[in-house]
Amino acid sequence: MSQHPNKKIMTELIKKQWSDHSIYAAIVNEKMEIVATGKTTVQETLDPTAHAEVNAIRTACKLLKTEILPINYWLYSTFEPCPLCSSAIIWSGLDGVVYANDPRFSGELPDWSFIKCRNILEHGADIHQVKLIENFMLDEIKDYFTRNCV
Ligand SMILES: [Zn+2]
Repeated sequence: MSQHPNKKIMTELIKKQWSDHSIYAAIVNEKMEIVATGKTTVQETLDPTAHAEVNAIRTACKLLKTEILPINYWLYSTFEPCPLCSSAIIWSGLDGVVYANDPRFSGELPDWSFIKCRNILEHGADIHQVKLIENFMLDEIKDYFTRNCV
């Protein structure tokens, strides 16, 4: 029985962000297993769309040889998906999203979620409905971007 949000999965992603210094995302199947993870590789790959969430979706779709993910697949992310990623979440047929941190805690960095994930999912509901759990385990990651500016 799949039950979201899952603390073990988010803990793993948050640990990865603290040690590897990238936003991390994962695609989780109906058995609560991580099918694919993604981190941000914009600079390494010179691809402005290579965000953690998009990378996780690309890897999962390639692995499963599909462009629409199976039912009961969810995406977990350590940060609120930006407009690009929120749209990709709709196109990929994911059933739900769980994210932790959001731009209130991104310090001097630009507001990546300049349109809230919640708003994009609401506007895209005619194409595909996606459930959303916001700020899950926020306390474990909200100091990440402001850690050096006390
Ligand atoms: Zn993004």
